Amino acid sequence: MVMGAGMGKRVLVIEDNRDNMTLIVDILSEFDYEVFQAFDGEAGVAMAEKETPDLILMDLSLPRMDGWAAARAIKANPDQKDIPIIALTAHAMIGDRERALEAGCDDYLSKPLNLSQLLSKLNTYLNS
Ligand code: MN
Repeated sequence: MVMGAGMGKRVLVIEDNRDNMTLIVDILSEFDYEVFQAFDGEAGVAMAEKETPDLILMDLSLPRMDGWAAARAIKANPDQKDIPIIALTAHAMIGDRERALEAGCDDYLSKPLNLSQLLSKLNTYLNS
């Protein structure tokens, strides 16, 4: 993994935990992704519509609209349905992952996030 791996690809992060958000934004910025932030599900859906990002990282437990509902809303929009959505799930919550895939998420990552897994997943969906 090298600096600049993101090549300016646009990633929307929907996450209500400010510490997690800061961590993700710092990592992605360092690797040359352009990052958009939303702190609840409704704001995330609106931001996805406004910015049409290349990929979305979606926390599941979110205020106002949870991550499953937000994923469904985004995937129901014909202009947005091809945007890959990667759910961020608590490690033990196996059922959450299955529900995330059912809601239209393309994949998931376990929290706490592992840096190399995150970058590898982004690379899989954005640079292949
Ligand atoms: Mn959360």
